[in-house]
Amino acid sequence: MRPRPFVNWARNQRARPRQRHRPASEVEIVDLVRAIRARGERLRVVGAGHSWSAAAVTDQHLVSLDRHARVVRVDRQNERVTVDAGVRLRALSAALDREGLALTNLGSISEQSVAGAIATGTHGTGLTHGVLATQVVALRLVTGAGDVRVVTPEDGDLLDAARVSLGCLGVVSEVTLRCRDAFDLEERAWSLPFDDACRALPELAREHEHLKAWWLPHTGRVQLFAYAPTTAPRRGTSRVSRALDGVVNQVAFRGVLGLGRALPAAIPTLSRLVGRSYFRERRRVDRSDRLFNVAMPPRHLEMEYGVPLEATPEVWRATRRLMERRRLRVNFVQEARFVAPDRCHLSPAYGRESCQLGAYMAPSADLDRYLRGFEAIALATAGRPHWGKLFYARAAELAPRYPLWERFGALRRELDPDNIFHSDFTREVLG
Ligand SMILES: Cc1cc2nc3c(=O)[nH]c(=O)nc-3n(C[C@H](O)[C@H](O)[C@H](O)COP(=O)(O)OP(=O)(O)OC[C@H]3O[C@@H](n4cnc5c(N)ncnc54)[C@H](O)[C@@H]3O)c2cc1C
Repeated sequence: MRPRPFVNWARNQRARPRQRHRPASEVEIVDLVRAIRARGERLRVVGAGHSWSAAAVTDQHLVSLDRHARVVRVDRQNERVTVDAGVRLRALSAALDREGLALTNLGSISEQSVAGAIATGTHGTGLTHGVLATQVVALRLVTGAGDVRVVTPEDGDLLDAARVSLGCLGVVSEVTLRCRDAFDLEERAWSLPFDDACRALPELAREHEHLKAWWLPHTGRVQLFAYAPTTAPRRGTSRVSRALDGVVNQVAFRGVLGLGRALPAAIPTLSRLVGRSYFRERRRVDRSDRLFNVAMPPRHLEMEYGVPLEATPEVWRATRRLMERRRLRVNFVQEARFVAPDRCHLSPAYGRESCQLGAYMAPSADLDRYLRGFEAIALATAGRPHWGKLFYARAAELAPRYPLWERFGALRRELDPDNIFHSDFTREVLG
C-alpha cells in the first residue's frame, strides 16, 4: 500500500511518494541514501512543505528530517549555532533567545525548517542583509554517493553552491549559522500614494536597515514598514494584540477573500475597506523575531522575482498598468523587500542589490493571467525567481540569468553522479 500523499501548505502541490522516510540521525540518512542509490531509485527531502513550487515534490522516496531536529550546539562567544537540518526556524529562534542570542534577519514566518529555508534562497528584508543562506558558515552534506562532506569556506565555492541548492547536491544534515546578541526592533509603519512610494523605494531601502512595502492593488496606496534595532521599552505588541492579529488574518481577511471570490466585482471596494482599516501609522517595539514575522496569512499563492534594486519602480508601475489594461482584480497585498548581493550560485540576489517583488493572490479566475503577466514583466527586467514560489520559466530561459549556472551543474554531477536527487521539477527548472 502506498503511503499517504504529500500535500504542501498552500495545497497547490500534491504527490504520491512511493515511500516516506523519517531518519533520526545522520547515520540513518547515510544508510537511506546508500540503499536508495543501490536500487537505482531517487529521493527528495521535504522540510516543512511550505514552498509553493514543486521543489520538494516526488513520486519516489520522500524524506522528512522532522525527527532530526535538535539544536546541537550554541557557541555564545563566537555567536554561532549548530542545528540538525530539520529544526524549524521558530524553535531555533526560541532556543537562541534563551541564550541571549538571535538570528540577524528573518522572513515573514518561521514555520520553515532551516535546511528547507536556505535551500530556496528564503530571505527577510534589508539591503545590508543577504538571504538567510548567507548566515550559514558551515554545513554537513550527505552526497549522492552516501558520503558525508563537511562543507566550510575552505572548500572553494562549494559552500556557496550548497547554501542555495534546492536539495540537488545532497541531503543537508547539519547547519552552522552565524547569529548575534538578542535584540529588539522598533517598527514604524506609514503609507504613501503609489507613485510617490515607487519613486522613493530604492532610496528608502538604503536609509532603513530593514524596509518592506505592501501595495494593496485598487487602493492607490502603499504601506511602508521600517524596522530598526532599539533599546526602547516594548510597546504595542502584547500577547493579546498578537493573538488578535492572528484572528484578523485567519477570520476577517479570509472572509474578505471569500466574499471577493463570490463577487469578484467587489474586490476593489473590499480592498479599499481593508486598506483604510489596516494601512495606518503605527509604532511597535518587540523582540526581533516577533516583528520580522507576521501573523500567518490565509491560504493563497505566491510568485516572487528578484530584480535589480533600481528596477523596482519600473516593475511595480508596469504591474499596475498590467492590472488596469487587463482589468485584473487582484485580491491580495503585493510586497517589496530588499536583499544584499551574495555569491551563492543559484541565489536570486547573486552579485547585485535586489528588490524581491512578490505577486500574491488567493485563488481566483484572474490568478493565472496575473501571474503570467507579472512574470513577463519581471523576466524583462533581468528578474530571477524565488525557487520556493510559483514560476513558469524553465531552464533554457533561466540559465543565462545566473553567471555560475554551469559551475553549479558541474558540482551537481560531481556530488550526485547517479542523479538520485533529481525530480521532474529539478529537470525542468535546472535542466
Ligand atoms: C506563508 C508563507 C510565508 C513565506 N514567507 C517567506 C518569506 O518571508 N521570505 C521568503 O523568502 N520565503 C517565504 N516563504 C517561502 C518559504 O520560505 C520557502 O519556500 C522555504 O523553502 C520553505 O521551507 P520548508 O522547510 O517548508 O522547505 P520545503 O518547501 O519542504 O522544501 C524546499 C526545498 O528545500 C529542500 N530541502 C529541505 N530540506 C532539505 C535538506 N535537509 N537537505 C537538502 N535539501 C532540503 C527540498 O528538497 C526543497 O527543494 C513563505 C512561505 C509561506 C507558505
